[in-house]
Amino acid sequence: MIRSLITEAQNTWCPGCGNFSIQHTLKAVLDGMEKSGKSLDDVVLVSGIGCHAKIADYLNINSFYALHGRTIPVATGIKLANPRLTVICCAGDGDAYAEGLDHLIFAAKRNIDITLIVHNNRVYGLTTGQYTPTSPLGFTGKSTPKGTIEYPFNPVELMLASGATYVARGYTKKLSLLQQVIREGIAHKGFAYIDVLQICATFFNMTDQYNAKVYELAGYDPSSFEAACEKAREWDYNRDAPIALGTLYRRQLPTFDERFPVHAMTQEDRERGISEVLGTRR
Ligand code: SF4
Repeated sequence: MIRSLITEAQNTWCPGCGNFSIQHTLKAVLDGMEKSGKSLDDVVLVSGIGCHAKIADYLNINSFYALHGRTIPVATGIKLANPRLTVICCAGDGDAYAEGLDHLIFAAKRNIDITLIVHNNRVYGLTTGQYTPTSPLGFTGKSTPKGTIEYPFNPVELMLASGATYVARGYTKKLSLLQQVIREGIAHKGFAYIDVLQICATFFNMTDQYNAKVYELAGYDPSSFEAACEKAREWDYNRDAPIALGTLYRRQLPTFDERFPVHAMTQEDRERGISEVLGTRR
């Protein structure tokens, strides 16, 4: 039976929030996976702390709320304990690029087979508008009433430098492209990183600026690392410049979970070991 993927939990996102686009795009991708024979019992969604994290309440699949900045270590643990699972991480830009930055870099370095979707609204929305690592210079918010005095960093360039084997950028107003990169990211074997430019309707609404600057990659070869670096540097998350959307980079390498010794164990051995550990906690 095809399950309803939207829960009945009361949705508290602000009207116009880009989280709705990500939720419904992910739902469409999950629907497609189920229709093509994948059991959604084998899919786990991990979210962090922030507005984005409520997606775990609103999508009807196995899910885990992690601590702030700790989505990736939780997802890594889930994948290593049961490599059969498809593990999807949703994290905010604060979660991924501030509190969880070290985990992000090492997930890319290790090429752990999980998919990370960063809801990058470039502001802390849940705490009512503080700047994050990707807020532009001069951003005015609750913690910086006179404007930030530091430049943002470029997370896409950072992920390329750290060894991510799938790197893409989406935008919450370009839904078919967003669906395409999320589908590709989940299908990719290895660490899939998708930075999604998300509208925060209440504290940092960049709709007009993004609409004027984004373009979809066409006739582009995502196997070229040099081309990916060039595209990543075209826009530094600060200056006014064209913003490429789509798959910037893709390559195949052995994954961390394939190399991890747990693979030498059978499924039964793993489950017995997990039961023993859980038994000591009762
Ligand atoms: Fe969305 Fe921003 Fe409202 Fe949070 S504060 S729900 S990110 S619009």
